[in-house]
Amino acid sequence: MFHSKKGKSHILALTMGALMLAAPMTGMARADETPRYVFLFIGDGMSYPQFQAASDYLGAVRDGRGTDDKILDGNEYLSFMKFPVAGSAVTYDSTSFCPDSASTATSISTGHKTYSGVINMDEGLTRKYESIAEKLHRQKGWKVGIITSVNLNHATPAAFYAHQPSRNNYYEIGEEMLNSGFEYFAGGALLKPAGPDGDRASIYDLAPGRGYRIIRTQADAEKVSAADGKVILVDEHLADSDAMAYENDRDGDNWALADYVRKGIEVLDNDRGFFMMVEGGKIDWACHANDAGSTIHDTLALADAVDVAIEFASKHPDETLILVTGDHETGGLTIGFAGTDYDTYMANLANQKISYARYDSDYVAGYRKNNTSFDDVLKDVEKLFGLKAEGDKEDTLVLTDWEMKKLRAAYDKTMSGAKVSGQEEYLLYGTYEPLSVTITHLLNNKSGINFASYAHTGLPVAVFASGAGQEKFEGFYDNTAIYAKMADLLGVK
Ligand SMILES: [Zn+2]
Repeated sequence: MFHSKKGKSHILALTMGALMLAAPMTGMARADETPRYVFLFIGDGMSYPQFQAASDYLGAVRDGRGTDDKILDGNEYLSFMKFPVAGSAVTYDSTSFCPDSASTATSISTGHKTYSGVINMDEGLTRKYESIAEKLHRQKGWKVGIITSVNLNHATPAAFYAHQPSRNNYYEIGEEMLNSGFEYFAGGALLKPAGPDGDRASIYDLAPGRGYRIIRTQADAEKVSAADGKVILVDEHLADSDAMAYENDRDGDNWALADYVRKGIEVLDNDRGFFMMVEGGKIDWACHANDAGSTIHDTLALADAVDVAIEFASKHPDETLILVTGDHETGGLTIGFAGTDYDTYMANLANQKISYARYDSDYVAGYRKNNTSFDDVLKDVEKLFGLKAEGDKEDTLVLTDWEMKKLRAAYDKTMSGAKVSGQEEYLLYGTYEPLSVTITHLLNNKSGINFASYAHTGLPVAVFASGAGQEKFEGFYDNTAIYAKMADLLGVK
């Protein structure tokens, strides 16, 4: 039933995680225990719908439900959903109830609200806030690791080491990264490493002078150990916007987020303690694009990474704390769609072989160049997304006349190369390739799920906690309280 090896490894990892969780993690920690090892996982754009959709998807696929089955027996909990403590955090910022990643990561990392787009500074853009990671590094001598599936100087990771009036100050953020002294950075490449005009000294070239080794291949990454000192691991197989590939597109031999966490533990492990922030950044990117299949797989990749921390915690049961949260919701994803009423067909999403982004780069670009016919495009659509132009009308993957009309209009728009303009086209396509976003919209809807927006929404996020000090994270609170709880627990000022 699984469409790839990747799907299977998720189930294995989840089962392992659940087993390990059952023994040493539950009820192990007293409230007065101070952890020495802290993992903070942030699913960018991940609120309740994102992990619940991933959980339901695994259940649907596990049960081998075909497209004509209407009832699911159940979901498959991601390991962090079984953590002993589950809280919730409200995410609004100083600009909006629909905040951005810069302000929300600032709240989590420093305990302050600020404007969207601002990294660790106040609303007046004069005062800088020190992050929890910087405090632990400076006050307690802990080692720090920052891992992300997107760019290392993107908003969420930046909020743990940088202080900038704009998240778009990529070069300045890169400089602050080198000045942080943090021991381990890993994930996607830096954006604008030589500045906005490409005429400044590259951050990569400056790195050795600040004591960092840059590692660019997986073979070299495998050899990295604590003895190497401070390292920056740039993923070898970069995809859209120099981020790591969507989990949907990742070749099974290439490192996943979980591999960077495993390596991070190896580099950071020491007797004083460490703090590791791990961002699943493409959950958000996929939700912006309304690509449910890719969002689900990136959420599973984050769950796999959490399982690595769970494995570590099983060896250090009284001194490890694992937190799993999101910064905000993206896309207004929901389980349920007007067109399918109470029915869902989540297993239909297993037919999606690649992300919208790879479809754009590897297929759509060629369609325009070669003036590919609609009929030929339909063949790819069936092969890559499972949507069928014709067939048994009981088959929930067969497109209706109305759906075919929508797909044809999107194909025409994409082939014309004309800019998306006006309210109607924006609501249909956002800022995305009309053909690609229409394909994912159709597959989402035929799976019984839907998106309300191409931007962020105001839903609260979950805060799952397991390990030493877990009780602190019970309840419904503001996202700034995540910082306050960590700082109080870890004894930093
Ligand atoms: Zn976003």
